[in-house]
Amino acid sequence: MSKKIAGLSKELLEKCVRCGSCRQVCPVFNVTKEEPSVARGKIFLANLINKGVLELDKEAADIFNLCTTCLRCREICPLNVDYEKIIISARSLATEKFGLPVEKKAAVKVFSSNKTLKALGILSPITKLFTVSSQSPQNRLLPIKIPRLGKVLLPQISSKPFNRNQTYKAKNEKGKILFFTGCMFNNFYTETAENVVKVLNQLGYTVHVPEEQVCCGAPAYFAGDLKTYEKLAEKNVQVFQQDNYDFVVTACATCGHVIKEYIKIPVKELIEVLYEEVDTIKNWKLPQKTKVTWHHPCHIVRGQNIPKNYPIEVLKAVENLEYVEMEEADNCCGMGGSFKLSHPEISKEIQLKKAKNIGKSGAKIVVTECPGCVMNIAEGIERENLRVKTLHIADLLAQAIPRSELAP
Ligand code: SF4
Ligand code: SF4
Repeated sequence: MSKKIAGLSKELLEKCVRCGSCRQVCPVFNVTKEEPSVARGKIFLANLINKGVLELDKEAADIFNLCTTCLRCREICPLNVDYEKIIISARSLATEKFGLPVEKKAAVKVFSSNKTLKALGILSPITKLFTVSSQSPQNRLLPIKIPRLGKVLLPQISSKPFNRNQTYKAKNEKGKILFFTGCMFNNFYTETAENVVKVLNQLGYTVHVPEEQVCCGAPAYFAGDLKTYEKLAEKNVQVFQQDNYDFVVTACATCGHVIKEYIKIPVKELIEVLYEEVDTIKNWKLPQKTKVTWHHPCHIVRGQNIPKNYPIEVLKAVENLEYVEMEEADNCCGMGGSFKLSHPEISKEIQLKKAKNIGKSGAKIVVTECPGCVMNIAEGIERENLRVKTLHIADLLAQAIPRSELAP
C-alpha cells in the first residue's frame, strides 16, 4: 500500500476545487503548458497518492520537483490552499523513498557545510583565471557558450568567508542588531555583505556578525530533506538567542522566508529596515542620474508578505534615482534554488522573460534583495545582450550614502 504524504490531511488536499486560477500565473506552466507543472496538477497527484490510488514512484517524484516554489499559485488561489506545505511534504516523502536527486544532494551538501564552502575559497584565484568579468560586480562569465543554454554566469567565490565574529559600530548608535548572512553573502557576495553593514551603520545600527551561524536550511527545506533542515535550524536558534540585540537582519529573501519560521528573536529583511528609515534615505544621492527598476523576489513578496510598495518608496527617496517599473516585476526570475540546475532549459525561458521585461523598462540598473535573484538576473541580462547592471539594493545604496558621512 502506498504511504500517505507526511503531514497532509484530506481536508488540505481536497480544499483545491480545481478552478485553474493558478494556471494563469505559474511561470513553469507558462513554459510547458502541461498540467503536471502547475499547482492544481501536483495537488491532484498528491491527493491520489494520499488516498492510496497511486504509488509515489520516480515519475511522481519528478513532477513534485517541477516547480520553482515561487508561490504565485498560493497568492492567487481563491481558497488559500497551502501549496507550500503540500509541495514540501510531497518532496519530503519522495526524498525518504528515493533519496535526493543528484543536483539537490550536491547543493544541500555544499551549502550546509561552512567547512566545505570555506575550503572552496582556495579556488578563488583559479576561478578568476577561467572566467571573465560581467557587467555585474562579483559575477563572472564562463568564456565559452554552453550548448542549449548559451552564456553561463557564476558568482565569484571569495577566498575568505565574511563571517568573522566581528562587530561593526555605528557612529550614532540607536540600536544593536545581528546580521544573518546566509551562505551566499558569507562565501560569494562578500562585498555586498560589507555594503549591507555600511548601509545599516549609516542608519545608526551597530551590526554584529556571528561566525558560528550556519546555512538557513533553505536548500534542504525546499528539496524535502527535512532532517538536514532541522539540524541547521537548531544550530541557528542557539547562535541567534542573544537577548541584548534588537533584532536579526537578513538581506537574502530566501533566508528571511526560512529563518522567520524558527529564530526566536524578531527577524527583519533589510528592505523592512530601509522602509522604516525612508526619511533618512531622502538625504542620500547617487553620483549621477540613473534609471533604476526593481525585481520583487518571490520569497519577499509572497514568502514573507512584505508589501510591494516598500522597495519602491525606498528607491524613490534616493536623489538622482529615477524609478521605472518593469512589467511583471513580481514574476519569478527562474532561479528557484536548485530548479535552475534540475530544469535548466525551463529556468532559462523564465529568466529570459524577466530579462526582456527589464530591457523594455529602459532601466540602466535592476535592483533586488536576494543574491540568488541577482545572480540569475545578471545571467539573463548577459544572455539577452542588454546594457544593464544587476545590483543588490545594498550595493546601490552604498553608492548613495553622503561621502562626508562615511567612516574613514
Ligand atoms: S487556484 Fe487554488 S483552488 Fe484553484 S486550482 Fe489552483 S490550487 Fe486549486
Ligand atoms: S510555486 Fe510557482 S512554479 Fe510552483 S506550481 Fe506554484 S506558481 Fe507554479
